[in-house]
Amino acid sequence: MKDPSKSPLGKPVTDESPLGHVPMSQLLQIPEKQLTVEVKDYLPDLETLTPVQGAIKIHHKGTFLEVVAQAKAIVTLVCDRCLAQYNHRVELDTTEIIWLEEPEDLNKADWTERELESEDLIERISPTGSLDLTQWLYEQLCLAIPPQKLCDNSCDGIAVKEEPAASSEPEIDHRWAALAKLKQQMSS
Ligand SMILES: [Zn+2]
Repeated sequence: MKDPSKSPLGKPVTDESPLGHVPMSQLLQIPEKQLTVEVKDYLPDLETLTPVQGAIKIHHKGTFLEVVAQAKAIVTLVCDRCLAQYNHRVELDTTEIIWLEEPEDLNKADWTERELESEDLIERISPTGSLDLTQWLYEQLCLAIPPQKLCDNSCDGIAVKEEPAASSEPEIDHRWAALAKLKQQMSS
């Protein structure tokens, strides 16, 4: 009889980093169909002063994954007003649904609305594919960073004349704009 402690449960997802790809086939082999990954890593695309620390629980529920994540990190941001760098503590405490759908199913009419909302975010993967945990966590942390970055709420900014187009929309690049928009929708 096999030693249960040698089940895939206790093993890291990949050899390189626990924040690797989680194959759905592997997740389904686990009796509970869920896996908790401890996070203590620097993410390649996110500059943080401290490693991102936390845990991600991935639960296979047949037609979708439920992903529960708690994570925190200190990021260095640039103030929109005074352009000074400052440290910001990002905290993530979220439960997300990732649909398990084959790509060809995405043409169905009922996907249209979700397509519009999701843009670049991982919101679905193939039932036979794998979840890229690093990318997923990166996206979630980006959502947790405030779209308007202020070193302090009372920051007076640089002592020069006001920008003429001081509209309510801060200047952010396209990728951030999509994330900011989504965050706005979620919090409203
Ligand atoms: Zn400032």
